[in-house]
Amino acid sequence: MGMFDWVEFKNPKFCSHCGRNVGKDFQTKSLDNMLLHIKEGVPLPRYAREQLTIKGAWQFSDEGYGIIEVHTICPKCSKYCSYNVTIRKWTLTDEG
Ligand SMILES: [Zn+2]
Repeated sequence: MGMFDWVEFKNPKFCSHCGRNVGKDFQTKSLDNMLLHIKEGVPLPRYAREQLTIKGAWQFSDEGYGIIEVHTICPKCSKYCSYNVTIRKWTLTDEG
């Protein structure tokens, strides 16, 4: 089992392949795999802000802005469902 961070949205997302509701909980490996549980609308804890980096092209700025990739496996069609979402002011949004 790898380590990763959890992301929880207020509203469910839907499979881009078959349209099934895939729920509100997703994994992300875009951050530092600190076992964070990140909830939409709740600012990241200070210790995480100081240590956090985003892997790849996107980086957090001083304003706590970045885009992360979150994913899950669809329970109906078993395909990989991936979404890009914005973190703004250290707070997860549901915006692409
Ligand atoms: Zn599906």
